[in-house]
Amino acid sequence: MTTEPLQPIAEEHHTDVLVIGAGPVGLYQAFQLGLLGLRCAVVDALPHVGGQAAELYPDKPIYDIPGIPFCTGGGLADALLQQLRPLNVPLFVGQTITHLRRDDATATFELRSSTAQVFRCHAVVVAAGVGAFEPRRINLPELRALEGRQVFFFDDALPQLTGKHVVVSGGEEQAIASALALEHTAASVTLLHRRDTLSASEAAAEAWQAALARGRVRLVAGLPSQARLGPHGLTHLQITEPSGSSRDLPCDAVLVRQGLSPKLGALAEGGLVLEKKQLPVDTATFATRQPGVYAVGDVVTYPAKKRLIVCGFHEAAMCAYALLEALKPADAGPLQYTTTSALLQQRLGVRQEKLAQSPNTA
Ligand SMILES: Cc1cc2nc3c(=O)[nH]c(=O)nc-3n(C[C@H](O)[C@H](O)[C@H](O)COP(=O)(O)OP(=O)(O)OC[C@H]3O[C@@H](n4cnc5c(N)ncnc54)[C@H](O)[C@@H]3O)c2cc1C
Repeated sequence: MTTEPLQPIAEEHHTDVLVIGAGPVGLYQAFQLGLLGLRCAVVDALPHVGGQAAELYPDKPIYDIPGIPFCTGGGLADALLQQLRPLNVPLFVGQTITHLRRDDATATFELRSSTAQVFRCHAVVVAAGVGAFEPRRINLPELRALEGRQVFFFDDALPQLTGKHVVVSGGEEQAIASALALEHTAASVTLLHRRDTLSASEAAAEAWQAALARGRVRLVAGLPSQARLGPHGLTHLQITEPSGSSRDLPCDAVLVRQGLSPKLGALAEGGLVLEKKQLPVDTATFATRQPGVYAVGDVVTYPAKKRLIVCGFHEAAMCAYALLEALKPADAGPLQYTTTSALLQQRLGVRQEKLAQSPNTA
């Protein structure tokens, strides 16, 4: 799975359209907008792009993407990102949109994120899926202040854990995969789960047993009850074992892989009209009932809506054309094909290459 470097955070980012959500549909939305010549940026709460596909089933197969007989969730995210790259769309990852406000007088939006980034734009596309993915935390308030330094939630942190004594918290596939990924790089790896049995596929359970036999990982059953801090931060995690006794696990980093819970949060509270946590849309334009706010993908509802990636891709294309009509009507000429349009090929950065390779097809 590709991990994009964080975009340097400008105090304010101005663009035509802000896409909330970098799942498969949000990424394709940005592609369609860029292709039509609209400036856009994409924001996601996760530290990487790909939404559910990258986070919930990165290694599982998908068989129903048009023209791609087989790919994995992570592979699809990579391919969408690769397709988007020539359009130079800024990606703001690891931040959740927390405020959305429209200035009716100027018909512009101001949005704010959890990292205090401000976005100003003329339209918003909500591609928020089932909500912002937030990690389930360990219920110890003292760990909050250590997030990003000694407490982590995603595999993007793995390189930072080299040579460290790491406790991986969780007992399912993701936690096992993270513990296995650290087997040869961390100083020690302790998988901490409330029970001494794990919930894993046969393949993951076999890989775990093999790692146990190599003696480079261990499983400890218990629940964290206290974080012990020294002058330089976390030194031990105190746990309560199933027997009720306490035990200290020495560690200098904790990777919490206890799953994610999606939260619509600001979108639900920001005045958007939701029906059963979904946004009703006009299926010709994918406009919501709020002026300037559009929505695509799993977050929308309309008669016979299917929560399929292919449906989200269609919605994104329709929405991009509607936004071109709304924001730059003078540019909304006849439909152009990427196969034959010099303009679209120029935007994709393939025009020169095509000419050089095959002048007869220019
Ligand atoms: C196990 C599983 C298997 C599946 N297999 C298939 C399949 O084979 N074929 C198929 O077509 N579909 C499949 N799906 C469904 C498919 O994954 C979804 O339809 C698709 O991911 C929807 O894409 P999306 O971009 O709309 O939303 P998501 O993928 O949910 O992405 C939304 C993104 O928005 C972000 N976000 C939300 N709110 C905010 C906010 N306020 N600020 C910042 N970011 C925010 C979230 O963090 C998330 O990354 C599967 C789903 C699951 C769970």
